[in-house]
Amino acid sequence: MSPLLRAALAYAADGVPVLPLHSVGAAGCSCGRPGCDRPGKHPRWHHTLLRHGLHDATTRPDMIQRWWARWPGANVGLRTGIRFDVCDVDAREAVPRLRKLLRDAPVAGPLVRTGSGGWHLYLRPTGAGNRTALLPGVDWRGSGGYVVAPPSRHASGARYRWVRRPTPPLPDCPAPLAALLRPPPRIVDGGPGGRAPQLCRPDRYAQAALVAEAELVAGAAVGTRNTTLFRAAFHLGQLAAARLLDEHSIAVVLADAAYRAGLGQPEITRTIRSGLRAGRHRPRPGLAA
Ligand SMILES: [Zn+2]
Repeated sequence: MSPLLRAALAYAADGVPVLPLHSVGAAGCSCGRPGCDRPGKHPRWHHTLLRHGLHDATTRPDMIQRWWARWPGANVGLRTGIRFDVCDVDAREAVPRLRKLLRDAPVAGPLVRTGSGGWHLYLRPTGAGNRTALLPGVDWRGSGGYVVAPPSRHASGARYRWVRRPTPPLPDCPAPLAALLRPPPRIVDGGPGGRAPQLCRPDRYAQAALVAEAELVAGAAVGTRNTTLFRAAFHLGQLAAARLLDEHSIAVVLADAAYRAGLGQPEITRTIRSGLRAGRHRPRPGLAA
């Protein structure tokens, strides 16, 4: 049995839903897209074996056996937000930032060294969804997300490996990090008379909208993904027109979400660009920075 399949079955036996991801070899990502910018990190797709990407993640050993029989080199993806959330510390510069935030208090619990030399901290689920750039270089993988798990192979050739293996109970998310994860207040509709919504913190509203739209895109079902992506880019483009967000950040966050949903690169770029353009030309009344 391959180490990847053995690991996948062991995670599933611990109650963690597993899904097969693309793998990286000498020829690049197994998805075959030239210039794939998430090599070995995005879910496999198959018209009968794996139709809904992330949402097909399972703990069923028979299904896992079938997936790895078909793709023996598939990297192992683990759903987050169920047994654990993962704090994904990517860039080297992010470590000092995180240390400062946590006032040098050590974070206990399972720890993975990623194939790119970053870190994955496994923590008790918070209920939060995915968040990009919680701090620069620090992402959150929570409800609706997944992580690449050991012994998957990174594009660098290095494997993800456990520095500290999971042993229950998992530590709670440290309070300063949890504070960053807390969702900004929701904005309700204008109410009777069709008044524009009252925004007391338009910037926070815009950040929340970015996160919410990205989650919609990442979770969109096949057949609705492109429309969802277009709508998200349109809505966020309106916020960019009101100078509440910048278009570059929107494009980066939405492209990441669309990739997770399984859309291909040229389509993603095209759809985001046209959605942003449409939103820019239809600014929403009542929004201003
Ligand atoms: Zn790929």
